Amino acid sequence: MEEYPSFWTPESKPFDPLELARQTEEIVAKGDSRKYTDFYCTGVYGGISTGYTIGCCLKCVFCWVDLSRDFPSQAGKFFSPQQACRSLQQNARQAGIKKIRVSGGEPTLCAEHLLSVLDEIQETSFLFILETNGILLGGDLGYVDKLKTYKNIHIRISLKAGSPEGFEKRTGGQGEFYELPFKAVEYLKKAGINFHVAAMTDPRLMPGEERTMMLAKLKSTGYQDYVEEEQCDPYQTTIVRLEKAGMKL
Ligand code: SF4
Repeated sequence: MEEYPSFWTPESKPFDPLELARQTEEIVAKGDSRKYTDFYCTGVYGGISTGYTIGCCLKCVFCWVDLSRDFPSQAGKFFSPQQACRSLQQNARQAGIKKIRVSGGEPTLCAEHLLSVLDEIQETSFLFILETNGILLGGDLGYVDKLKTYKNIHIRISLKAGSPEGFEKRTGGQGEFYELPFKAVEYLKKAGINFHVAAMTDPRLMPGEERTMMLAKLKSTGYQDYVEEEQCDPYQTTIVRLEKAGMKL
């Protein structure tokens, strides 16, 4: 197998994120099982039961996720959708909370696993919050159509860049793919799915001009609701990734 790319550095060659998704899935998926490192509850969203999964299709320099993102073969254990759901629900019930998510890695990787988890959660009163970078959804309208069938889901789609150059510089993905998350917004809106948009617009990382372009492009998708603008927190892993990319806050 081709060597798995770890950190994004100034010498790295920009990659095709859809190809990285496939390469990552070869490591983190086995049948409908997916690798996780942990299950726990945390205070965000007013309390949420979280499955910390592994693997992403981007290499964002501001990413806070632990190093399993960069070395997926060395971390985690496989959980079937049923095992993951059992842990997610058990933890939620013990903590008396009503929300569930799969975080850490990109949850839309390993679609078979995610859809089976959603099938199980659909039978409960929990709300599933799907946090995504929108790459796979923007590349596959059929995936969005499948998500449309779930009623207890809220999607938080996080934009990383407002230009091909910004996308390449901060996510490692080839610039031409920067359109995909905007496409995903368009698809989600047309599908009538419950969602909102977040954007990593921290001025220490994204120039003001690019932020303006991002918001204009977002408007052109028909989205006019709330935009949750994110700041880059200096987690240890974030600092390491920024340093590797030759950047700092
Ligand atoms: S910030 Fe999100 S999309 Fe970017 S690399 Fe980390 S997990 Fe993936």
